[in-house]
Amino acid sequence: MKKQISKSKSKLDYEAKVIGNLLKHSITDDADDVMNEWVYESTIEIPNNCNLCGHKIRNNVIIRNKINGKILNIGIECADYVLNDKEYYKAYDGIESIKKKNKMMKLKEERIKRDEEIRKNNEERRERKIKNLMDIAKDRDKRGLPSEVLMTKDGVYHGLSNVEVLKRKIALGRI
Ligand SMILES: [Zn+2]
Repeated sequence: MKKQISKSKSKLDYEAKVIGNLLKHSITDDADDVMNEWVYESTIEIPNNCNLCGHKIRNNVIIRNKINGKILNIGIECADYVLNDKEYYKAYDGIESIKKKNKMMKLKEERIKRDEEIRKNNEERRERKIKNLMDIAKDRDKRGLPSEVLMTKDGVYHGLSNVEVLKRKIALGRI
């Protein structure tokens, strides 16, 4: 037995409720022995109420009665109370792996969001730049100013208007 010098009333109430509910699903009617019937089974993430204390839980520890095969979904606090150390550590690891998986997914989502923002910003910047260059090219054409000579892999273009040169440069991916 665990040595306890003094326990608060709420703690005693909690333990009485948990053991009472555990006994309902167990073979033995001995409160000191009931915990030996239960082992860790698995963990899942689903909104639920702990089958022993009734608290709202998200990370469920599933425990199984070794004798009658009954299954209960409980929170990690109740798992800490009703399972022996070896079984509790398995439950703890199960919950930790859920948390770790969620954290990884959250980081991945954040990175995707960040990359998307960068891509959008770059695109907007490029559109603004093209618009500015186009305004300048149109103005130069209007004033009859010569365009630069456009060199491509296929040849050298002379005699294109400023706007045409710009359009071809955009098409070639140079802007
Ligand atoms: Zn509970």
